[in-house]
Amino acid sequence: MTVWINEEKVFSLIEEKKPRGIVLNAPGGLLKQTRGLMDKIKERYGIPSVLVGDSCFGICDTVDNEVEKLGADMALHIGHNAVVQTVGDYTYLIDAVDDVKFDGVLNTAIPLMKEFHKIGLVTFSQHLNELESAKATLEDAGFEVKIGRKNNLLLGSQIFGCDFSTIHPLRNEVDAFCFLGQSEFHVVGLALATGKPTYMLDPYLQEVTNMEEAAEERRKRAILAVYKALDARTIGVITGLKEGQRMIGRSRWITKRLEMHGRKVLQLAMREITPERLAPYRDVDAFIQTACPRISIDGFTFDRPVLSIPQADALVRLMDGKEIGDFLERPKWIELTVGLLPRRR
Ligand code: SF4
Repeated sequence: MTVWINEEKVFSLIEEKKPRGIVLNAPGGLLKQTRGLMDKIKERYGIPSVLVGDSCFGICDTVDNEVEKLGADMALHIGHNAVVQTVGDYTYLIDAVDDVKFDGVLNTAIPLMKEFHKIGLVTFSQHLNELESAKATLEDAGFEVKIGRKNNLLLGSQIFGCDFSTIHPLRNEVDAFCFLGQSEFHVVGLALATGKPTYMLDPYLQEVTNMEEAAEERRKRAILAVYKALDARTIGVITGLKEGQRMIGRSRWITKRLEMHGRKVLQLAMREITPERLAPYRDVDAFIQTACPRISIDGFTFDRPVLSIPQADALVRLMDGKEIGDFLERPKWIELTVGLLPRRR
C-alpha cells in the first residue's frame, strides 16, 4: 500500500511555467514521497527546490508567502486534494492518492451495520478514488448509500478536520455515517459535527470502530472548557497566522462581544498555538483562538481554557443568557480562507 503524488501534474506545470525555483510543503506522512519528488525535479530540470520544514497539518498550511523570501517563483502544496487548484500568486495544489483497497474492511463492516438501512459514505483526500466502489459494495449488500455533494472547496463526500459541509446536509437522511480511512482525527470530527452514529472503516487494520465513546469524550471536554472560560476576567483572542486561517473579522467580532460583557481582551496573533507559547501570558485567564479548531477540541492539554470558534460562540450565548446549544453540530467549524489569498501581482 503506497501513497502516490501526482508527479505528472508537477512535471507539466514545470514545463509550462518554467519556474526558476520551487518551494514545497507537505504533511508529515508525505515527506518521504515529497523528497523523492524533489530529487526527480532536480534530475529532470536542474531546478533548485526548498522543502518548508514547518508543520503542515492541513490545506490551511500553504506557503505562498514564503516563495519570494526563498528566491523561488512557484510553490507546490502536496496531499490536500480539493476543488481549489491554486492559492495566492504562486501555489499549486498537488494531489496524493493512497492505493489501499477497502474490500476487506467493507466485508467486516457489512454484518456489523445491519441495524442501519441508510448509510452516508465519507472520506478524506487520499481515499476519494475509493468512494464509488465502496458505495457499489454496500449497495450490493442491500444498503441505501448517500454521497455528499461537492462544493467550492471540497470534493463529493470529502471532509477536512474543520469542514464537514459536503455531508452535513445528509445527516437527517441517513441512519449512520461510514468513514473510509484510518484517521480518528477526521472521524471524531465527523461524529461531533453531525451528531449521528459514526463508524471508522480502517483498511490497514481491517477494523470497524464505533466512534461514539471517543466523540463523547471530546464533546464533554469542549463543554467543560466553555463553562470554565465563563469565569475568566481577562481573555486572550488569538488570530492564526497561517494562510488558510485568516479570521481577523471573527476575532474582532468575538473581542467586541467579550468587551460588551465586561471582559478585558488581549488580542494576539500566532502561527503555532501551544502551551509553551501561551505560558508568558500569566495574567490571561482563558484564550479563544480563531485558527484551527482542533487545537482546542483534541489538541494539546492546556493549563487554561483555549476555545475554538464554535466554543466561543457557545460562550457568547451563555453570556447573553441563552442555552449553550449543540455548538459543535454545524457544517464548518471555521470558514477556511484557502483560495482567497489576495494576489499581489
Ligand atoms: S484548520 Fe482545518 S484544514 Fe487546517 S489543520 Fe485545522 S482542521 Fe485541518
